Amino acid sequence: MNEVNKNTAIIGNLTLFFGVFLLFTDVFFLAMGIIYDMPIIRYVIYVKLVINSTNIFLILKKHYLLSTGIIYTVILGFMITGVVCTGTAPAFQLYALGMLVCISYNGYLHKRILKKELPLVLMIAIHIFCYAAVYIYAGHNEPIYDIPKSAVNILVIFNSLASFSIVTIYAWLFHNVAIKSEEKLEKMAMIDNLTGLYNRHYLLSSLDRMQDGISEKCWLALLDIDDFKKVNDTYGHNCGDYILNSIGNLSKQVCKDCIICRWGGEEFIILSSTPECDTDILEKLRSTISDENFVFEGKTIKITVTIGAAYYGDCSSSMEWISRADEKLYYGKNNGKNRVVFFGK
Ligand code: GH3
Ligand code: MG
Ligand code: MG
Repeated sequence: MNEVNKNTAIIGNLTLFFGVFLLFTDVFFLAMGIIYDMPIIRYVIYVKLVINSTNIFLILKKHYLLSTGIIYTVILGFMITGVVCTGTAPAFQLYALGMLVCISYNGYLHKRILKKELPLVLMIAIHIFCYAAVYIYAGHNEPIYDIPKSAVNILVIFNSLASFSIVTIYAWLFHNVAIKSEEKLEKMAMIDNLTGLYNRHYLLSSLDRMQDGISEKCWLALLDIDDFKKVNDTYGHNCGDYILNSIGNLSKQVCKDCIICRWGGEEFIILSSTPECDTDILEKLRSTISDENFVFEGKTIKITVTIGAAYYGDCSSSMEWISRADEKLYYGKNNGKNRVVFFGK
């Protein structure tokens, strides 16, 4: 399932969950309307049952925006009916507060996934207005039904539980979605999407972090593919991309304990993460690449790389360290390519 379908499924499941949840509450309120003889509640529930069942059908037909609108209208309508019939004591008005979290989350999902704008400010304003209005109404009017204290208690418990469950579920969903998006963005910011290696941004910030504790025995290597332009010109850009990806994989396999990044174009940086990291692995990487038969669309391609490397030694900055390695790379390129040249060795 691709990302868009997966996200649309989240909206679908959430709306469906809400629709079914409303049907469940309908059954409870219908029972209360029958037991405590509240005909208005009963009639409203009959209408609500028809609307909510139709709504489930709309959700299954993927009319999420319409069904979300219906759900909010029905809940607001029932909250008003509840307060008019029984007063504020059974806490029907809590639904208006609980809905604020759902509105925010639904607005976020609709915008992000369905690219549709919900009139959030208007919806929130309507809910706050209704919340205040039922209190003002109840302050000036007696409830239609004088239900016993036990019924008030049952309704308070049910309405509070339902409202708090809605708030908790939606706040938790919001929390999860925020964390996941952040993790994804963080990953995107530090990974090169062609090779899956770290990118230049990640390497520079790692070097910045290491700066104080860096050992003079740590080394950094710049790897550049030889005559890569010819590969692109002869076999095409897709083949070039395949080679870049394969070199990235080989580097990961050979230099397991190193930080490897795609520095840019067809250049990679390999950084020894500890002073004990053996420099011989650079020679091993060079020979592994030159021995490899890269096969693209049935054609076998031979590739070589030149590597310039430098110990940190007396460098005063990471840029100086990189340019020392670059000098050696340049030397290697001018002296036959396909070799490893080490600064200070
Ligand atoms: P040298 O041996 O001196 O390094 O020669 P070279 O041909 O490898 O070097 P040059 O810098 O002239 O060419 C690098 C080429 O890398 C040019 C560019 O088209 C190619 N390149 C850079 N990034 C990508 C990429 O993401 N995909 C592909 N396919 N090619 C790329
Ligand atoms: Mg280059
Ligand atoms: Mg090159």
